[in-house]
Amino acid sequence: MKRIAILGSTGSIGTQTLEVIKQNPERFELYAITGNNNVDLLVKQAREFLPEVVCVANESLYQQVKDALNDLPIKVFSGKESIAEMVQMQPIDIVVTAMVGYAGLLPTIRAIEAGKTIALANKETLVVAGELICDLAQKYNAPILPVDSEHSAIFQCLAGECNSKIEKILLTASGGPFRTFSFDALKSVTAKQALKHPNWEMGAKITIDSASMMNKGFEVIEAKWLFGLNAEQIEVLVHPQSIVHSMVQFADGAIKAQLGAPDMKLPIQYALTYPERIEADFPRVDFTKTTQLTFEKPDLQKFRNLQFAFDAMKKGGNLPCILNAANEVVVKAFLEERISFLQMSELIEFAMRKVEFIAQPTYEDYVETDKKTRIFVSELF
Ligand code: MG
Repeated sequence: MKRIAILGSTGSIGTQTLEVIKQNPERFELYAITGNNNVDLLVKQAREFLPEVVCVANESLYQQVKDALNDLPIKVFSGKESIAEMVQMQPIDIVVTAMVGYAGLLPTIRAIEAGKTIALANKETLVVAGELICDLAQKYNAPILPVDSEHSAIFQCLAGECNSKIEKILLTASGGPFRTFSFDALKSVTAKQALKHPNWEMGAKITIDSASMMNKGFEVIEAKWLFGLNAEQIEVLVHPQSIVHSMVQFADGAIKAQLGAPDMKLPIQYALTYPERIEADFPRVDFTKTTQLTFEKPDLQKFRNLQFAFDAMKKGGNLPCILNAANEVVVKAFLEERISFLQMSELIEFAMRKVEFIAQPTYEDYVETDKKTRIFVSELF
């Protein structure tokens, strides 16, 4: 029996993780859940799964959650510090990091320090502080298992290949809703249009990141750290059908790919059951109905964020942290219709040039960089 903590249980990955747990009650026990603002769903999940602990990040909502669970023997906490403490609780085996953005960094660090297995869905953690996280994971012997579908695909391709030399990985991208739009047409696209992803049902932030290809940029950086690769070994391929979830090309030229219907529950389940692969009734691919699988180069002139991510990864230091903080601010502003789609890239580029570069950042430097960048970008519009 594996005991699971889900950080961000009310989000898209969180709710799908609960479905996987529900399907396998003999394997998994839900020990703790956390949410940010969605009290109704958090309470509903707590009443259904009866975890030991529920934590609401937004402290002003503590009493509301506490009152709603008063009749049950569930411990209720609130605040970011409580989440960072909670992940270290002794009975927890796996921490699923499914919250959005920079907020994932501190609890992930604490969970690693406690030697927990990390099922990593919060890619921003590795984007912001990949080197620090990987050093800590090694020091505390904490496995980091990918939940992101592309990285799970690569991880699955690498099973049994621990001595095989990787030539490169081919990270697939759907291309998002604006793949076929001209640069001119991108000037006037709205948040509503951007929120309609062709293949994947996801939260608002990652859906905008997918439309701008920032998500793929983050995944490039995530892959670097998860699999110990350099920039030349990571190639992004646009594959609009989202059936090939990614591929690995080995030193002899052989290519392994992992395929499947676009459904996050498979990579979630694989991370939770690893190294086992267990039965599931997830949707199957029918190749007689899948008329074609196509691949094309990403357009870096049109989707500049992807280029910024490669630049940030190559230069390293706190530059990926600046990239992430700037992106979080501009995505929020775009969703609030305060800036245009293309302005997002302009502001990110400006922040990357202007916020002070630190070559060897400490944890405190990351915290400071994140704060400074958010202020800097917020003052530009
Ligand atoms: Mg992905």
